[in-house]
Amino acid sequence: MTLPEPSDTLRLLDGDEVPPVLEENIESRSPFFFTCDHYGRLIPRALGDLGVHAGELERHIAWDIGIADVATMLAKEMNVHLIAQRYSRLVIDCNRPFDSPGSIPLISEATEISGNGGLTGDQVEARRRAVFAPYHARIAQVLDQRKAQGLPTILVSLHSFTPVYAGIARPWHVGTLYNRDDRLPHLLRDMLRHEGDLVVGDNEPYAVSDATDYTIPVHAEKRGLMNTGIEIRQDLIEDQSGQHQWAERLARLLLEIEETLHARKLMPA
Ligand SMILES: [Zn+2]
Repeated sequence: MTLPEPSDTLRLLDGDEVPPVLEENIESRSPFFFTCDHYGRLIPRALGDLGVHAGELERHIAWDIGIADVATMLAKEMNVHLIAQRYSRLVIDCNRPFDSPGSIPLISEATEISGNGGLTGDQVEARRRAVFAPYHARIAQVLDQRKAQGLPTILVSLHSFTPVYAGIARPWHVGTLYNRDDRLPHLLRDMLRHEGDLVVGDNEPYAVSDATDYTIPVHAEKRGLMNTGIEIRQDLIEDQSGQHQWAERLARLLLEIEETLHARKLMPA
């Protein structure tokens, strides 16, 4: 049986455009598995600039500044399977439920996204099919395969946050984030605090919730996977040396956590 091709009104990406899903280390056997929902800031050609000035599309509203390189370096350093989204969260946010107002935002911080106004149901569906669906389908497929292979999985969702939001400065260098399962976030939080040079947020600057998040609630919690979100402040990872430092630091701490989990018999089966 062949499935019907989506009609042209539902096709958003042309054949020569960059695919939404980026992957590294597909053959990894590490228990860690990395996601990066806000890795990229591409916009499908058909959507132009979404009615937003070019300078705005380089800001944190379009993507998580610095995290792409940290995620790539960290995944390489630890040989961990990374799945990342190359398209901008302004097209459709891959860490928001569809019914959330932030899914296809009309405003982000103080910037109006005029290209997201007045969309038809087909236009919304086209974004979901082109960007959101393939990313989350691939994550689900890999998690199923890992389970079938008997590989334990610890899902780590990598993000970065702007140092100043709506005029308010954020004091944390990094935060560990959670919804229902705080075991790993608290372990990592304590290790980051033990480093001695960091202000570490406990579910700050954001807390994970079913209403505002997708990746952790849907992929990790529904499968009962140990998980954490990590948010790094963007001014610390805007250049290569900062990105290297953070990738090295997180690799060291996560490998130590892997040993701790084994020692405490907490490593998931
Ligand atoms: Zn993010």
